[in-house]
Amino acid sequence: MTSKKPATLAVRAGINSDEHHGAVVPAIHLSSTYALKGFKNKRQFDYSRTGNPTRSTFAQAIADLEQGAVGIVTSTGMAAVHLICQLLTSKDTVIIPHDCYGGSYRLFTHLAKRGLFTVLVVDQNDEQALAQALQQKPKLVLVESPSNPLLRLVDIKKVTQASHAVGALVAVDNTFLSPLLQQPLLLGADIVFHSTTKYINGHSDVVGGVLVTKEKELGEELAWWANCIGITGSPFDSYLALRGLKTLPLRMKQHQENANAVAKYLQNHAAINAVYFPGLIDHPGHEIAKRQQKDFGAMMSFEIKGGVEAVKVLFDNLSLFTLAQSLGGVESLISHPSTMTHAGMEIEAQIAAGITQSLIRISVGIEDVSDIINDLEQALLASQI
Ligand SMILES: *Cc1c(COP(=O)(O)O)cnc(C)c1O
Repeated sequence: MTSKKPATLAVRAGINSDEHHGAVVPAIHLSSTYALKGFKNKRQFDYSRTGNPTRSTFAQAIADLEQGAVGIVTSTGMAAVHLICQLLTSKDTVIIPHDCYGGSYRLFTHLAKRGLFTVLVVDQNDEQALAQALQQKPKLVLVESPSNPLLRLVDIKKVTQASHAVGALVAVDNTFLSPLLQQPLLLGADIVFHSTTKYINGHSDVVGGVLVTKEKELGEELAWWANCIGITGSPFDSYLALRGLKTLPLRMKQHQENANAVAKYLQNHAAINAVYFPGLIDHPGHEIAKRQQKDFGAMMSFEIKGGVEAVKVLFDNLSLFTLAQSLGGVESLISHPSTMTHAGMEIEAQIAAGITQSLIRISVGIEDVSDIINDLEQALLASQI
């Protein structure tokens, strides 16, 4: 199965698996419980928190795409991050990126405040800072590349090698790219995870997560915890996310084609101070992105001239873009990281991460790109009056 190309794996996941009726599309199994064959004679599934056929099909599909051993579907992306925290004890140290997803930052820093472990917030592109943090012999290094919302790149192979040298596990948040554009396990990481809420489901109608381990043993340990703490994903969400997955290769192509055009349009715009998109040759992470990713994705952010007042006028004047959190759906979304996705980060931490009041993030959708650009153009003009 895994010798197939990613687009084939995504489309064929679960197809023809119904031996009973020959249903082409895998059925959704909503049953919370499963009958034993007899006393002390269990079937593959017994209770849906522990295991469910629909969830299992979706988990296997992502594990195949990431080329890992074990896939675990969680109720949300944050549940996947929380699941990784189960590997830590109060004696352990964790390194997290200074510019990671606001929810991940909030989770790690607040659990650390309760004494569950020690957290070090590090700019992983600052070699000296990273080397110094690694001297603390962390148990886990969290990586997010490209980062949210500034699209900074981290050399996953390099960070993984340095982390493994001190005995740390490496977990990579691959939400921004999906397994089609980046496969962190092949770069050496031990764990990769996604918020399936974003590109994998792709239709903004599921909140979910998935985690894949390179090694079977670590996967089994985490699957045990997922059942123990009860954070496994629902069959219905798994069904929808599996359905979304089938068009991921096609959607990604259009997302990226549109994103490239939007980035080029924004790049030289008089209303804009800076554009952060790894596909632009002058982006500081462009070379790393070319090396470790298959393509550049469709997330970008930019600094508007005129500060927060200009941000408001821009948002008020957009008619196609929706002002909303989240990303990776077919529709174009726009957001203000400081007051939205990264509101869980104290203002000092935001400043340290480079998140300003003028920073705007966009998730480029798959509408006709001329409509996307026209919408931005009239709102950007209005913002500068
Ligand atoms: C959305 C997101 C998460 C959290 O996922 P939820 O499904 O919202 O819980 C984690 N990491 C990144 C990069 C995200 O964009």
